[in-house]
Amino acid sequence: MNIIIFGPQGSGKGTQADILGEKLNIPHITMGGLLRAEAGSESVLGEKIKTIINQGILVPDEITLELLKQRLDKPDCEAGFILDGYPRNLVQAADLEQVTAVDLALEIYITDEEALKRTGGRRNCLACGNTYHLLYKPSQQEGICDKCGAALIVREDDKDEVIKMRLNVYHQQTEPLVEYYQKQSVYLKIDGMPPIPEVTKEIFAKLKLI
Ligand code: AMP
Repeated sequence: MNIIIFGPQGSGKGTQADILGEKLNIPHITMGGLLRAEAGSESVLGEKIKTIINQGILVPDEITLELLKQRLDKPDCEAGFILDGYPRNLVQAADLEQVTAVDLALEIYITDEEALKRTGGRRNCLACGNTYHLLYKPSQQEGICDKCGAALIVREDDKDEVIKMRLNVYHQQTEPLVEYYQKQSVYLKIDGMPPIPEVTKEIFAKLKLI
């Protein structure tokens, strides 16, 4: 099953994609993660990506498409995947359609106010990509990743001003995906405001996984 998941910053889409991927036994692929891996490689392209990400704006579509194709070509995607953070605009949605079909488009919705509250406490593991929150999803040992033991950091693009910019980008460029996928009858809206386990329950119930 090919699933895409989108929602504002702090909606919990990464966490839910992880859980759903495990349940369905398909990989959870994050475009942000693919871009950050490239940004960390110190190539010319990597430097360009890093500058763009730190401003809170979108990386050019040609770059994301290339990274996406390389990732979807890997054998673990044969039975499907959950794509998190792609597509993020209508051009990317059309690009994705050229590469593969989308069976389900999940939107996890929260208000801007909640998005700002949640992203404030976000912590990330640079080594394995796992995400935490000081209040809602703390690591067992403060500042240390439960999965791999590396130190946790606050991402440059999780700072308040950048988050506001990213929310604007979300409303202007990503939200039109709702209508796009509604027209294809693959769109499903999930309320992301309740605590993590309740959101998971709603997703599983709507997908008839429980
Ligand atoms: P994320 O970790 O998904 O919040 O993404 C972090 C940043 O990576 C975004 O603010 C963008 O600068 C960039 N990014 C992630 N996904 C995409 C995408 N599909 N298209 C363009 N830029 C992206």
